[in-house]
Amino acid sequence: DGSGANLSEVDVEENAQDVKENAPELSSKSPKDFFLLEEIGEGSYSTVHIGCERKTSRKFAIKICSKLQIIREKKTTQIFREKECLTLLSTNENFHPFIVRLYCTFQDKESLYFVMSLASRKDLLQVLKKKKKFSIEEARFAAAEIAVALDHIHKFYIVHRDVKPENILLSDTGHMVLSDFGCAKFLEQTEEEKKELETRVRKSSFVGTAHYVCPEVLLNKPIDETCDYWALGCTIFQLLTGERPFNDVSEYFIFKRITSLRYSFPDDFPPSADDAKDLIQQCLQIESADRLGSKEKGGAEALKAHPFFNGIEDWEKLPESTSPLLG
Ligand code: ATP
Repeated sequence: DGSGANLSEVDVEENAQDVKENAPELSSKSPKDFFLLEEIGEGSYSTVHIGCERKTSRKFAIKICSKLQIIREKKTTQIFREKECLTLLSTNENFHPFIVRLYCTFQDKESLYFVMSLASRKDLLQVLKKKKKFSIEEARFAAAEIAVALDHIHKFYIVHRDVKPENILLSDTGHMVLSDFGCAKFLEQTEEEKKELETRVRKSSFVGTAHYVCPEVLLNKPIDETCDYWALGCTIFQLLTGERPFNDVSEYFIFKRITSLRYSFPDDFPPSADDAKDLIQQCLQIESADRLGSKEKGGAEALKAHPFFNGIEDWEKLPESTSPLLG
């Protein structure tokens, strides 16, 4: 019933600095300054609403996290990590259009509020369910923008660790918006984080989502940014086939498939998609150093130079390009 729970455990500072840096015009930072419109999503400890700033009528996505639920589900570290990563990635200098932007945070007694950019066209999984499969052109466009977003966060030593179609939202213009930094991690680990990781490993749990987790996480080996490229490989496979590459009746069997790299392309995989097949195979490498995107393989530039991306004429101009996913 929550009695005894100390809600102040999850207090966040009213982040005036974020507001000033990220959106000087958005001076409001209390629930009163917004009115909430429809609910657009639900997480395990949060609901997400469209929020309209009273003064300007600007629309945002407001994630409302229940403090009690965060404490009950022991998600305090996760929520602070999410805030820390998003704050760093949301300043005017660091901001990237393919990454969800955090404008400000505030709280009341029961809840934390994250005011974020609104990605109004659902997520890639929902789009995929409707389409069944993406065309090569659609998959190429989505993969290219996700690759750009990943390269951007990796430059800040952030690994996302939960890349999957559900966590790629679509903006109103049909561009990718990488979201959900609850599993993200700064690559340089503090002693405390190392200990936390060890505890988690001992409990043999893992972060991320079973189907997209890379072998090194399951084998308790150190991770680097290439775990996001493994998940990108899984995501491209899923976009083109409608299925996840590693699937089975239980997590145990999924993990066995992952660590032994047991997956196959369906018979109807488009014959014209040989480049996609090769890219997926190069991302799904057991050894992280063998993976496309790794430093050893030439980093993000090598990934972008893969023939699958030949149709991308100007990577810099992707944000202004017309999305094939608008229909
Ligand atoms: P969990 O908390 O269980 O890990 P989650 O991370 O998906 O779940 P949230 O981050 O709270 O939970 O998001 C819940 C849903 O709200 C998402 O699946 C998405 O559909 C929607 N959503 C989240 N952020 C935005 C946004 N910026 N714009 C539009 N919709 C969003």
